[in-house]
Amino acid sequence: MGKGLSSPVALLAAVLVLSVVACTASGPTGTAATGTAPTSTAPTSTAATSTAATSKTTSTNSTSTEQPSAILVQPIHDAQVVPGDDGKDHVEYELMVVNVYFEPVTLTSVTVLDSAGQELGRIDGATLAAATQALLTRTPTPAIDPSAAVAVDVDLALEPGTAPERVTHRIDYSVPDPKRALIIDIGDTVVNGPEVAIDRRAPIVIAPPLAGDGWVVSSGCCSPNVHRDTRLAINGDRIGTPETFAIDWVRVKNDRIYDGDGSQNEQHYAFGADILAVADATVVIVQDGEPEQLPDVRLVPEKSTELSGNLVILELEPGVFAAYAHLQPGSITVKVGDKVKVGQHLANLGNSGNSSGPHLHFGLLDQANMFTGRSLPYVLQQFTLVGAVNVDTSTGDHMVITPESRDVTRAYPLYGGILNIPES
Ligand SMILES: [Zn+2]
Repeated sequence: MGKGLSSPVALLAAVLVLSVVACTASGPTGTAATGTAPTSTAPTSTAATSTAATSKTTSTNSTSTEQPSAILVQPIHDAQVVPGDDGKDHVEYELMVVNVYFEPVTLTSVTVLDSAGQELGRIDGATLAAATQALLTRTPTPAIDPSAAVAVDVDLALEPGTAPERVTHRIDYSVPDPKRALIIDIGDTVVNGPEVAIDRRAPIVIAPPLAGDGWVVSSGCCSPNVHRDTRLAINGDRIGTPETFAIDWVRVKNDRIYDGDGSQNEQHYAFGADILAVADATVVIVQDGEPEQLPDVRLVPEKSTELSGNLVILELEPGVFAAYAHLQPGSITVKVGDKVKVGQHLANLGNSGNSSGPHLHFGLLDQANMFTGRSLPYVLQQFTLVGAVNVDTSTGDHMVITPESRDVTRAYPLYGGILNIPES
């Protein structure tokens, strides 16, 4: 059950606890990025041939700080900030790394620095291996093949209010044969940069899209998973990230998300729950008529609208849209143009579209489009954090939970959290 979400059709939605558990844990063996220390020392004792090769470019190097490198690193976009329910501000962005070299290149560390050179965070080892991914399929790719491109997720957890206007980087990498690198004058296997601007606007405050006890963030920000790592090329000129902060909500009781074998939607505790408006808003998209799927039976979509299943999108304010996907067919109570009030019932939680178990896909976007919109950070007004699911070891009929009990206001519920949400 819950095969990895590696198919492109799984992009949008998908979710469900089951496959989230299966796919997110995939990661890192931890060996690739940890074992090889970067060989960044200058080639002071290299063979005469290398010296000869480098001497050809001495005249240019002597007047420039520029130097060939094996990789090209650029930010995919500016960074976004969300206050997490762990009390930290999470700065989220991605770097695209292209291998412009003869052989596979392995990143060994990504160090985030402020403009004064102060280290704000570092990614290495197994964390870096999991965060270095194929662009669309999200496959962890610690060794980057020649001419291949990967994305590196950065999740920088800072004390509240301390995110700087911009950050820069030191990126260390290794190549199989450092002597060969000298042929094209790659002396240091280090990239200093790039700079990334941070959008420090205050997060959007919303009411929760659901109410009641036991709601699990089965995918969301800020560690690798299907939402955090959905990337699409848009218009051929940018990488879009429509799901960074989107959450797939399922419901747990004790340590299970369903009764029995979970093969019927009605066995799932989330199924049928009231879906609520997160703010006063205007309905801009309603899509109904997609049939309910059976749990763990993968839809083979014939058109893109089938991915979301039954869908409602609200416009909260210009440039801010709330998307609710996989709703029960026939349950939607609103139509395009309606004005809704916060807390108003919109529909019931279902299992339509590209969904392998009843859940709500919810997120904010800057456009009313599930593909081209950019995911926006938000915080929920109030909830109680009652536990954390170990997503690496949990299954639908046995969730491994660490209990907590903490009232939270105005924070984003991080991946794996279990929330009790007050009925209003
Ligand atoms: Zn989803």
